[in-house]
Amino acid sequence: MTNSTNNSLYIHIPFCEHICPYCDFTKLFYFSKFSKPYLEALFKEIDSYHLKKMETIYIGGGTPTSLSDDEFESLLKKVSNLLKNGGEFTCEANVENLTSQKLSLMARYGVNRLSIGIQSTHDERLSQIGRFQTFEKAREVIQNARDTGFKNINVDLMYGFPGQTLDEVKDDVNNILTLKTEHVSIYSLIVEPGTLFFIKNIHEQNSDESRQFYDTILSLMRDAGYERYEISNFSKPGYESRHNLVYWHNQEYYGVGLGASGYVNGVRYKNTPNLDKYLIGNYVSEKEIVDQKLLREYFLMTHLRLKEGFELEEYQDLFKEDFTQKYQAIIDEYIHENLAQLCDGKFAFTDDGLMVMDRLLIRFF
Ligand code: SF4
Repeated sequence: MTNSTNNSLYIHIPFCEHICPYCDFTKLFYFSKFSKPYLEALFKEIDSYHLKKMETIYIGGGTPTSLSDDEFESLLKKVSNLLKNGGEFTCEANVENLTSQKLSLMARYGVNRLSIGIQSTHDERLSQIGRFQTFEKAREVIQNARDTGFKNINVDLMYGFPGQTLDEVKDDVNNILTLKTEHVSIYSLIVEPGTLFFIKNIHEQNSDESRQFYDTILSLMRDAGYERYEISNFSKPGYESRHNLVYWHNQEYYGVGLGASGYVNGVRYKNTPNLDKYLIGNYVSEKEIVDQKLLREYFLMTHLRLKEGFELEEYQDLFKEDFTQKYQAIIDEYIHENLAQLCDGKFAFTDDGLMVMDRLLIRFF
């Protein structure tokens, strides 16, 4: 089942030491009686793809660093052999369990990019959102990572919490900037059905406040020398996430692990979120054959998240139609309203457009 155009691998570790009340990811409480058989099933799934060397590998979760040191080492050992020379190897981590031992293991097995969930720099807010960490601890962990030799670090920040003020958002961004990481992902809180926040009727900020927060975040990050290259992602030049760019360029990738998604040989698939099924090797639960219509929709949905948008020539080659001709009236309207731009043979949404991207996209489908 190898695919010569597929150079990326996502690996999902679903375990967490505690469950955050807003979390909508596939996750489970960490118990060693589950993690050991899970890793066995995961390794079998990885083997089933007969993978060649990958240009990017991303271990996400859940919380990969919630595994015991032995389990974590066995995972890294298994996966590090699959990385090409010069490849990007990212591992997500939480502040609470990114110990010196975990950092050393990552360095030993070739992890060269860390992604650390900080979410807020206010300790009261952190306890409100179920995070057992402090900003001081986050600072310490990042220093340890630097001392271990990591030169490419992302941190995640969230905004739009209930009762959050603009001052708190500014303070969060300014605190995050003091960490001097190469990459920052900033997401707005979205309370999804089924989460504890949703059940308790706790909701994200309204869209007016959100807009004000968004504009402030953009200007603080840009003033500090970061480029917002994707709707929620900022990097210093040359530190864009190579793995995530595979998704945003609508390229294929392997996804393994509980609830993981993948895109292989023209088929998008989703693995089962059911641990019992996963453990007996019933990995894939949904498949979607990407025909030309879907390909076009995915192409637009993914590329238009990027600041650079997409190349009109590439669109023409793939879909045998002229995008600007077909959608001339809509494009003119969006440009007139400063929601989109045509520049250097590319079509892209502006900052204002990205804020309402879903509403804009729908008219191209
Ligand atoms: S640590 Fe991450 S994956 Fe785990 S529950 Fe919290 S937000 Fe979800």
